[in-house]
Amino acid sequence: MTPSARGGAIDNLLERLRARQWRLTPQRRVVAEVLSGENVHLTAETVHERSRALLPEISLAPVYNTLNEMVAMGEVLELAPGAGPKRYDPNAHLAHHHLACTSCGALRDVPAGADVPVPADLEGFVVTGESVVFRGLCPTCAAATSPPAADADDGQVALSLR
Ligand SMILES: [Zn+2]
Ligand SMILES: [Zn+2]
Repeated sequence: MTPSARGGAIDNLLERLRARQWRLTPQRRVVAEVLSGENVHLTAETVHERSRALLPEISLAPVYNTLNEMVAMGEVLELAPGAGPKRYDPNAHLAHHHLACTSCGALRDVPAGADVPVPADLEGFVVTGESVVFRGLCPTCAAATSPPAADADDGQVALSLR
């Protein structure tokens, strides 16, 4: 099950920004390069760290600015999967949910399956999308912990991660 089979929506962030004729300064370009790919969910600090490998003089402020601009353009998603800093996700054009490991913080994309039911009473909200985070343990963390209690219920999601 490859998400990219669904219309190739996961394409290169840099290509999408070019197609928008966004002015690619060296700083914007390295941030976009660092954020490109599948299953990329980086904190701003990590984006900064990796950007510095490509452009040593880049500071944190332009990284934040670039991330915020890309989020505002709808080319990058801003995620708050749980405790901890926000993550940035370039997979902004394909509806997807996330598998979040509560132990190591790993985050994977999963294609959105059936529509998530919208609550009957929205109290005037206009819903434009939804985002679901399945929390549990990734295979590595699951293997590292003692065998799960026999009566483990919906607190853990038994989905196999690729
Ligand atoms: Zn884990
Ligand atoms: Zn994602």
